[in-house]
Amino acid sequence: TENYGGLILMSHMLPLFPPYSIQFADQKQEFNKRPSKIGRRSLSRSISQSSTDSYSSAASYTDSSDDETSPRDKQQKNSKGNGDFCIKNIKQADFGRREIEIAEQEMPALMALRKRAQGEKPLAGAKVVGCTHITAQTAVLMETLSALGAQCRWAACNIYSTQNEVAAALAEGGFSVFAWKGESEDDFWWCIDRCVNVEGWQPNMILDDGGDLTHWIYKKYPNMFKKIKGIVEESVTGVHRLYQLSKAGKLCVPAMNVNDSVTKQKFDNLYCCRESILDGLKRTTDVMFGGKQVVVCGYGEVGKGCCAALKAMGSIVYVTEIDPICALQACMDGFRLVKLSEVIRQVDIVITCTGNKNVVVRDHLDRMKNSCIVCNMGHSNTEIDVASLRTPELTWERVRSQVDHVIWPDGKRVVLLAEGRLLNLSCSTVPTFVLSITATTQALALIELYNAPEGRYKQDVYLLPKKMDEYVASLHLLTFDAHLTELTDEQAKYLGLNKNGPFKPNYYRYSLKSALRFSLPRFYC
Ligand code: NAD
Repeated sequence: TENYGGLILMSHMLPLFPPYSIQFADQKQEFNKRPSKIGRRSLSRSISQSSTDSYSSAASYTDSSDDETSPRDKQQKNSKGNGDFCIKNIKQADFGRREIEIAEQEMPALMALRKRAQGEKPLAGAKVVGCTHITAQTAVLMETLSALGAQCRWAACNIYSTQNEVAAALAEGGFSVFAWKGESEDDFWWCIDRCVNVEGWQPNMILDDGGDLTHWIYKKYPNMFKKIKGIVEESVTGVHRLYQLSKAGKLCVPAMNVNDSVTKQKFDNLYCCRESILDGLKRTTDVMFGGKQVVVCGYGEVGKGCCAALKAMGSIVYVTEIDPICALQACMDGFRLVKLSEVIRQVDIVITCTGNKNVVVRDHLDRMKNSCIVCNMGHSNTEIDVASLRTPELTWERVRSQVDHVIWPDGKRVVLLAEGRLLNLSCSTVPTFVLSITATTQALALIELYNAPEGRYKQDVYLLPKKMDEYVASLHLLTFDAHLTELTDEQAKYLGLNKNGPFKPNYYRYSLKSALRFSLPRFYC
């Protein structure tokens, strides 16, 4: 009876759990479809904003200055004589392999899927075309998809983010990768085209981050959708595009919105930022946090993560909020709620995490004290009015990569990080464990869409079923030697739950919204 596509396989994978089955279709579970956060980026651009957002990938041993020849002008082959790739330099493959091996250590769920895949291949016959950041973590995902039976062709979703040595290791391993760090706009589309426009090979699954690949196929090769079984999309922007297509009745295959899955939201926003805010600030400024006065604008998931980390380091943290509920959470968590103008003269660090625009404006910047550090952890570079600093009386001095001193006529300096773009993506690394959660979600979403029986998914955008979200979390629990409590029959009946989950209703927002353990669950808000 457990005929749920590739996910049958998953039902036997949980050593921590009793027999575990993912039975959504027959439970007539209404998958929650909801629009994602509205992307603020123009979708009519020739090259996507997300493809140009500065992004510093994990350790990269190479930069584009070591060889000026465009990879498009080089003929390269891997050690097996295969030349179906276009990357910076195949000779860097050994470095890349080491990076991939390091990433594997922090991606336990994908490694667990691989182990299970030794006998079962839920992606056998799948031809996945992907467009994501090409980093060591993506390589672990691609190699997992391959172990699960898929063939992959891949391009980068961001012109800066490719780790050249990782791309080399993938090409050496037989993957058709078309990406290098520092692509031009023309290169960017050329690489995507090389992934899909190939004789004798047609994709039947899309894994996208930003929607550019999907957009390209819609524009250039619409007939390809006849064979495509589904799209898995990772980013806010890409998901927004998919909802637009769906609304216009133009989405011709089912799509899975991975961005809004519970595990991704929780880990990307709260835990990832809790770790990477310190990393980003430290790498760029070498600042000491103890005793520093910091104001964090916005006390949502990202703000809570930043505040928790800074408080733990001994900083004096102020919070600004517009929402009384999040404001109350900040107060209950022990932070002083203030207006930015009240503390702007005294603070050492200003961090924006609102997703809003013009939160820090020129007037605030004028009143900051000397050496105040200003940075943004929100999605877009609109939170700090950086344009207002481009006036003749102010001097800009680039003191390090991603660090500008903006100097006032009286000699006061404000330290602006990453020109107001996302600090952690621009100046630090993102913890691999966080990426592991996203990558596992992507892999499961691909398996689900590829194996879903006819009619389970229509031409619409779906959220990952709750049970799969729980499954992603449970796979990561293995790392911690965590021992999950099982419901007794009596308890399950009392709560009206299936003993094997899902354990929460879809509207449940998880009280971990507070990094400090005791905040109000969001759904009371
Ligand atoms: P959220 O909606 O949970 O929190 C944002 C908070 O900012 C809200 O509570 C809102 O009331 C508040 N706010 C809005 N305007 C404000 C203003 N003018 N002054 C003070 N507070 C204001 O969102 P989130 O999940 O915390 O994400 C925040 C931003 O960070 C988004 O843009 C998101 O895309 C981005 N993000 C960044 C990372 C990263 O790695 N840096 C990760 C995930 C999300």
